[in-house]
Amino acid sequence: MDGIITDIQRFSVHDGPGIRTTVFLKGCNLNCGWCHNPETIHPRPELQVFPDKCIGCGACLTACPHVAHRLADTTRHFDRHLCTACGSCARTCYAEALQLVGRLVTPQQVLAEVLEDQPFYANSGGGVTLSGGEPLCQREFCIEILRLCKLVGIHTAIETNLAWPWECVESVLPHIDLVMADIKTMDPILHARWTGQSNDRILDNARRLAGRNLPLIIRTPIIPGVNDNEKTIAEIANFVANLANLRYYELLPYHPLGLSKYTSLGRESPIPEDARLDPETLTALAAVARQRGIPVRPAEST
Ligand code: SF4
Ligand code: SF4
Repeated sequence: MDGIITDIQRFSVHDGPGIRTTVFLKGCNLNCGWCHNPETIHPRPELQVFPDKCIGCGACLTACPHVAHRLADTTRHFDRHLCTACGSCARTCYAEALQLVGRLVTPQQVLAEVLEDQPFYANSGGGVTLSGGEPLCQREFCIEILRLCKLVGIHTAIETNLAWPWECVESVLPHIDLVMADIKTMDPILHARWTGQSNDRILDNARRLAGRNLPLIIRTPIIPGVNDNEKTIAEIANFVANLANLRYYELLPYHPLGLSKYTSLGRESPIPEDARLDPETLTALAAVARQRGIPVRPAEST
């Protein structure tokens, strides 16, 4: 049973407790305008193009069997519609101006990489985290990785958008020690506008998860012009305060790092290039959430 991943990130400290190994799976059922990992949205491998790195060697022109790269007026052009993501050009591009994102792996191969970090889990309380993209787009692959990890005693976590039928979410729970999920807004229309789907299922699944004896971390990416206001955060915090198994609620500041990735994939981000979140706004919104009596990150500064 193969799956497609974009990366396995070692020594991660932002994807759950302790030192973790984060596996990024490719494919997502939402299309959030602010995604900072847009290379994980499409389910299949893709070619990323970084023109700034190109040294003009011309190797890609002959490497591509579909003539997706061509010269016009001494400038290299790439026609994404002709590309089948075979990776041939990326292998010849020593400047790394062309990079294939997405590789096919087995659950056993993922486990082998995860096991290299196992000595770091014990002392830190860490483990493995499945992220993406949306891991549940490859549900069977997820379950097999998680099952193998549990067999060797590794703590397992999943970062999921919860935008699934409950039966789908429920099917992975026996293999999971911690669920991390986003609530971006309580407004179903705003949610649909910015992610492509209403939040009905997400909220319903969060309530159902609260009935299970499974630790839950809820996070909100704070996006300028979308949800960076006190009303939105107060509404989410009110909802989160009723989730019995909540470990903490975390506000994640928007970061424009994903913008260059959109360009490399031939896409445009709907978030303006100059959008920024200032630290004072994040601090003020965290204080609003804290008023609901729940543990909030970032923690109050002393
Ligand atoms: S192989 Fe890479 S460096 Fe060479 S021309 Fe093509 S994109 Fe540029
Ligand atoms: S990935 Fe393959 S098909 Fe796509 S441009 Fe490169 S060589 Fe051509």
